[in-house]
Amino acid sequence: MARDLDNLYQQLTLTNGEETEVLVEGETLEEASVRAERCMCAQLQTAKYYNKEALFGTMRKIWRLGRKVWFRELNSTFFLIEFEYANDKQKVLREGPWAFDKSLLLMGEIDSKQPISQIQLKHCSFWVRTHNLLPFSARAKKLGYSVGSSFVRVEDVEVDDSGCTWREYMRIRVVVDVTRPLLRGKKICIGGEGTVWTRFTYERLPEYCYHCGKIGHSFKDCTSPDANLEEDDVSKLPYGPWLKANSLGGRSRSGINFGSRSTAGAFPAMVPGLPGNARAYHMAHKPHNDNHRMKLAQHEGIAEMVS
Ligand SMILES: [Zn+2]
Repeated sequence: MARDLDNLYQQLTLTNGEETEVLVEGETLEEASVRAERCMCAQLQTAKYYNKEALFGTMRKIWRLGRKVWFRELNSTFFLIEFEYANDKQKVLREGPWAFDKSLLLMGEIDSKQPISQIQLKHCSFWVRTHNLLPFSARAKKLGYSVGSSFVRVEDVEVDDSGCTWREYMRIRVVVDVTRPLLRGKKICIGGEGTVWTRFTYERLPEYCYHCGKIGHSFKDCTSPDANLEEDDVSKLPYGPWLKANSLGGRSRSGINFGSRSTAGAFPAMVPGLPGNARAYHMAHKPHNDNHRMKLAQHEGIAEMVS
């Protein structure tokens, strides 16, 4: 609607009163730019009604910043988050993604010279686990960047002091374009000696669609023309809860984990459209010791407060 009006105004013949420009001092914009460094634009990825005050209150609690943060509605879609200190903004971005009532909270920097009507948020950072890596060569940091090259960009690859990872998967911090289907994995060919299918799981993955693979709606609400809404057997859909990483295992602090408790270990025997060698892999179940159980309870306690 706003863009339609912008186009309309560009075609109008302006009156003298409209044509005369208003001069805004550069200093005014500089002040705005400084303030923008402490601010973010945000949008909840859902078409459903939600209580904005509940969202704001919940984010204040789970971010645990200890300093002030203000939420202001910019329009019906976007709102502004202003932090008292710019460091708090970086902390929130670093520890994301964040979700409210299973929906992703998209956040992005603000260009103080960009009109609100032109704001577009579509990128979000996730920790992605790459499974089925080879014992040695495919565990180096450099390979992590290669495997993540199909995402918008790779922000980090978690390795130990030796420059490798030795757990059953490698964690890579990547920027995901939420307007596109999630990547379920990637074929990698190392040294021209055969191709390996590396499957991905996403930490703290919010609700997404098992038909089209996009974040922002459930498979029951998919509007994709290819979606087979008559299919009620989730295991036959091309995406599923198996793309959510098990809630344990991440090194970074997690405020909430929306990985499904009941389905985190489930991986389908058959994945339509995936290479045949992807079908045999199963997400490993680790026995939980008391320490793990306590951490899990902490995660779930916070999740229930939100949902
Ligand atoms: Zn969909």
